[in-house]
Amino acid sequence: MKQIYTYGNYLKKKFNSKVYKVGINISGFTCPNIDGTIAKGGCTFCENDSFSASTGKTQNLKGFYLNLDSKENPNLDKQLQQLEVQFNTISKKQADEYNAQKFIVYFQSFTNTYAPFSTLKALYDKALSFDNVIGLSIGTRSDCITEETFDYLCELNKDKEIWIEFGIQSVYDKTLEKINRGHSSDNVKEWILKSKKRGLHICGHLIFGLPDESKEMMLETSKQAYEWGIDSVKYHPLYVVKKTALANDFIKGNFTPISEEDYLDVLIESIKIKPSNVSVQRVTAGINDDSLLSPLWCKDKNIQIKKINNALKPFGLKY
Ligand code: SF4
Repeated sequence: MKQIYTYGNYLKKKFNSKVYKVGINISGFTCPNIDGTIAKGGCTFCENDSFSASTGKTQNLKGFYLNLDSKENPNLDKQLQQLEVQFNTISKKQADEYNAQKFIVYFQSFTNTYAPFSTLKALYDKALSFDNVIGLSIGTRSDCITEETFDYLCELNKDKEIWIEFGIQSVYDKTLEKINRGHSSDNVKEWILKSKKRGLHICGHLIFGLPDESKEMMLETSKQAYEWGIDSVKYHPLYVVKKTALANDFIKGNFTPISEEDYLDVLIESIKIKPSNVSVQRVTAGINDDSLLSPLWCKDKNIQIKKINNALKPFGLKY
């Protein structure tokens, strides 16, 4: 059996040690697709206050928002403190339980370039100052990076490993409109090509099972994302959580989630056409709590991984 090239394999080879991502969730951040700057309410599947990083204990800073028109950020000290507490808690656990030796700080929830530059710089610099941190991974939208922030990330990338994670989701604008994504596929392509040109590392997020998409459309999205030059990929099935616009569509019978069988089918095909240098960071997603409305096969990730491995077996592959 040949192991699929994973992000862990990539990091191990490059840094000759066990590198773990430390997921961070900083209070006060939001998304321009939620707050009305681009759209209100966000992507139809996004439960806007459901982001909970696997963060350990954090201070509760809910209830404040960054003032994006001001260079002053009265909550910056609290955010920096929160970053430190989360990093220490999670990295210690990863070191104790998995023998993690080095870390990439992953700013994961909402849009992590959506803040005044001075705030972003302070957070990125602080994260890079922690012991054994070799880089950053920044989850964001392609329509939400200023040139100033972009240049700074390129500068940091000279000495550190800087990743940007872009939500590609689909290359079909019709689909992006249906999910209220707020940007076009061309915009994502432009920023991926631009980031690659400057040497940044790119992870692309793909969703299978978006409204009215056929298997051919999902595979076309994979194909184009690979062609744009992404370095790493995260595959997700679209699942429905309560209190979202997608939940309303589902309840009214206007949206049917992808079946487990169809997800496995498109996932395996997508992996098969993936260039060998693109590492895989995630092959599925799910949520094991009451907020999941459908499909229920998304509840247990371990069972999903087992089934994915069974489906990969005939092709001599394993995850
Ligand atoms: S871009 Fe991300 S955070 Fe913003 S609405 Fe969409 S899923 Fe939610």
